[in-house]
Amino acid sequence: MQTLYGDTMPSISENISTVRAQIAKTAHDYGRDESEISLLAVSKTQSMAKIQEAYAAGQREFGENYVQEAVQKIAELKMPDLVWHFIGPIQSNKTATIAASFDWVHSIDRLKIAQRLSAQRSSAMGRLKVCVQVNLSNEATKSGVALEQVAQLCQQISALPHLELRGLMAIPAPSETLEQQRRTFEPISLLFKELQNMHPQMDTLSIGMSADFVAAIAQGSTMIRVGTAIFGARD
Ligand SMILES: *Cc1c(COP(=O)(O)O)cnc(C)c1O
Repeated sequence: MQTLYGDTMPSISENISTVRAQIAKTAHDYGRDESEISLLAVSKTQSMAKIQEAYAAGQREFGENYVQEAVQKIAELKMPDLVWHFIGPIQSNKTATIAASFDWVHSIDRLKIAQRLSAQRSSAMGRLKVCVQVNLSNEATKSGVALEQVAQLCQQISALPHLELRGLMAIPAPSETLEQQRRTFEPISLLFKELQNMHPQMDTLSIGMSADFVAAIAQGSTMIRVGTAIFGARD
């Protein structure tokens, strides 16, 4: 893509290749298999055209935060192999729409929301894949369940008929260095491994965004959620 000044900005397809190369390199550096790590393209606020560009570059999994915006995109983008992940905060009056529109929900932070999603999911769609959102920063303003309460919520979710408990998700407060970022992710990484003993179907550790996905992969992430590094800065 040409800018005003004639220098070139990387295209979405180039950005996706760059992120994929970073995933491969980081996996190699930390002795992991890169096929264990999937890339979720976070397309909130991005246009249909940009999503189509990412699709043309081979991207299939997309993450959205705002229900109204997402359902419009889902209705208009008809490619059958798109996989939609809801990753934003959930209000209870939106659960029916989420249950009817998405393949995954990463942001379950209370039982009531899980119960509503399960009750509202139609059997025909198959079980809704879910992650419990963990609060790693202990800030009252950040959503997510405190570490000590995650095991109980997982237990309760695993009994719900139309949900499939797949993992944990977190959005930690930003920190500067790789070492700090790794330390921030360590507790969720340990908890995830413990929970896998009780819930063998849990295979998804959804951690890592544009600024910290290298640290997240070093700490065992199996799904990074990347917006800015793929689509550029949001308005
Ligand atoms: C916006 C968002 C992302 C992507 O953030 P970038 O820094 O743009 O990569 C990932 N996860 C969640 C939950 C988000 O809201």
